[in-house]
Amino acid sequence: MPLTSAPSSRGLSHDHREILATVDAFSRQVLHPLQQRMDDEEWWPPEVFPRLGEQGFMGVNVPMDLGGAGADFVSECLVTQAISRWNPAVGLSYAAHENLCLDNVVANAGDAVKARWVPGMCDGSVVGALGLTEPGAGSDALGGMRTTAVRDGDDFVLNGTKLYITNGTIADVVLTYAKTTPAAGPRGITAFLVDTTAPGFRVAQKLTKMGLRGSQTAELVYEDVRVPADHVLGDVDRGVSIVMNGLDRERVVIAFNALGIAERALEVSIAFAQDREQFGKPIGANQLISGQIADMYVELEALRSFALDVAFEVQETPHGTAVQQTATRSAALVLLAGRTLNAITDRGVQIHGGGGYIWETEINRLYRTAKLYEIGAGTNEVRQTIIGSNLLGIKAR
Ligand SMILES: Cc1cc2nc3c(=O)[nH]c(=O)nc-3n(C[C@H](O)[C@H](O)[C@H](O)COP(=O)(O)OP(=O)(O)OC[C@H]3O[C@@H](n4cnc5c(N)ncnc54)[C@H](O)[C@@H]3O)c2cc1C
Repeated sequence: MPLTSAPSSRGLSHDHREILATVDAFSRQVLHPLQQRMDDEEWWPPEVFPRLGEQGFMGVNVPMDLGGAGADFVSECLVTQAISRWNPAVGLSYAAHENLCLDNVVANAGDAVKARWVPGMCDGSVVGALGLTEPGAGSDALGGMRTTAVRDGDDFVLNGTKLYITNGTIADVVLTYAKTTPAAGPRGITAFLVDTTAPGFRVAQKLTKMGLRGSQTAELVYEDVRVPADHVLGDVDRGVSIVMNGLDRERVVIAFNALGIAERALEVSIAFAQDREQFGKPIGANQLISGQIADMYVELEALRSFALDVAFEVQETPHGTAVQQTATRSAALVLLAGRTLNAITDRGVQIHGGGGYIWETEINRLYRTAKLYEIGAGTNEVRQTIIGSNLLGIKAR
């Protein structure tokens, strides 16, 4: 059954289906063969982003006059989904670049900064990252933030540490949050676009992960890093609104990463259950195995329908407006996506038997990948807190 023509994709336009099919074909041919080495050696292939740029798969939702494809937000989600099917590590790095960094730069930077950085981010020659999390500031990213930025003439001077930053070792620019008015707490945070060649910026360590190992995750240190004042995104002390306004989109994109990975997990599990014979017949002939496949399918299709529904809703919500219903539904989507992906990859490993437990099998790689999707973009608990407090009308402490 071709994954790209699932019935619940019915809301997609002809163009959307074309995009999904084109990126799927490219990713199958070009990105899938890279995944084993990326996982084994924690290797990042430097040509990947320029190749995605060449194909028009970067800057999907960026206006054409800035070098983007000028397509809609749903298209960005579909590109993420198709890449993640065939190479989840590239899918995560892509989402960090394309959505967490680039989308927020386009929505909030001044014209000169956009003209300088955005075309390169759309052709893949400039790699972006988002630096929000810190050693002492994870779920409480805003309240616990210690990184500071102090105005000095035409510049701000940044000091601090960021942790678990996707693309950290390969980034040319990092959208970095820092406290400009520490006494004001979360209301004193500013967003900066930091050029990683600036003196004082360094990668303190590359982190070794259980999954998504080709995606480069790092700890970043800022020691008296000078950032020109025109590289402030939005207004000084108003960084919180950039974080909050970007979050709904980020959560939807991350859910499409999970959707693509879950599709692939089902596909390899079906193939295995058809091929592997025990007791003289394919294991899929056993109702206990076909029932698992059926459950995986049901879980996947429910996720796909919800994902598309929320993606269209978020697309219709103008960038920069925080709508409570959209925030609730995007948190619900990413919560469902992480849980569904983990359930599907767990069943997939079970279907693969001993092979599922072996490091280099694809289902094992997908299984190791899945856990991040219950942690990144706000943990499951944070997502539950948002949904619960919005439904109850009681603010979480
Ligand atoms: C592979 C990877 C890539 C990442 N990429 C990026 C990136 O590109 N940029 C970036 O800025 N960050 C990134 N992150 C960071 C990620 O967003 C954080 O790990 C996440 O927000 C959780 O923060 P923490 O790890 O500090 O956990 P903590 O906040 O310390 O949480 C630990 C546990 O306590 C729970 N908990 C905390 N507070 C509460 C509460 N109030 N109620 C109930 N439970 C609670 C959490 O849910 C969790 O189970 C990445 C992380 C990983 C692993």
